[in-house]
Amino acid sequence: MKKNWKGCLFTIFAIILVASVTGCNSQPAISSTTSTSSSSANNAHAVVQKGPHWSYAGEEGPEHWGELEKDFVACGNGHEQSPVNIEHTHLEASQTQQPLQVHYTNTKASILNNGHTVQISVADANNNIVLDGTKFTLKQFHFHHPSEHQIDGKNAEMELHFVHQSDNGSTAVLGVLIQSGKENKAFNRIWSKLPKDISQEAALDEEINLATLLPKDLHSVRYNGSLTTPPCTEHVNWTVLEQPIEMSADQINQFAAIFPDNHRPVQQLGTRELTADK
Ligand SMILES: [Zn+2]
Repeated sequence: MKKNWKGCLFTIFAIILVASVTGCNSQPAISSTTSTSSSSANNAHAVVQKGPHWSYAGEEGPEHWGELEKDFVACGNGHEQSPVNIEHTHLEASQTQQPLQVHYTNTKASILNNGHTVQISVADANNNIVLDGTKFTLKQFHFHHPSEHQIDGKNAEMELHFVHQSDNGSTAVLGVLIQSGKENKAFNRIWSKLPKDISQEAALDEEINLATLLPKDLHSVRYNGSLTTPPCTEHVNWTVLEQPIEMSADQINQFAAIFPDNHRPVQQLGTRELTADK
């Protein structure tokens, strides 16, 4: 009898322990990017409701990312980190840089709020960019408010990041600055489904015409940088378009209501070159 009572107590204790551990892991408010393969574009700002905690403010904010996890050290001591301030006086016109080629089409996609941004994952593998002869396939795109890159020391209202991966696993991010202006109807399908809270991936009913999300002028600035979220992995090919796109103040406010601030401050450029198309 006594033995059974003890056994029962142990069982109850074990159940409570399991429940509390599960509860912690599934707690969405502190969920975060997790990355076993840090160079994976899919994980650049990935889903997944577990993994180390980080945020955009306070003790788990950008100044502390490098101390939070062993895998995050590049956030603190890396030498080629992103974003950066793009000073026009530092731009060097490259004689060899070929114009950016973008091959974006209508595509099926799904949307989620991963706790750090709203991310749209692209299902079709036929969207890509070509950088100096290398093809990078689009995996996902997401948003930051305010912008992460600065132009001549100033942030834009928002920034859109298209995250790509090449066949050999290299990552290329195409950054597009968003400024306040006219309503941008190309984003209506996405904006009508913006998940206010952390969510599971949900398919968008209709295809998105990705080409319409870009500005007309594809002149770009390129540099070697990193993911702008932990683990801040380096060797990322950055391309930032010179021409911004517009969204209405109302559209920007809708995103800002969900993410008042999800940007990493600019990092030291150091000895890196910022190259512009000829
Ligand atoms: Zn980003």
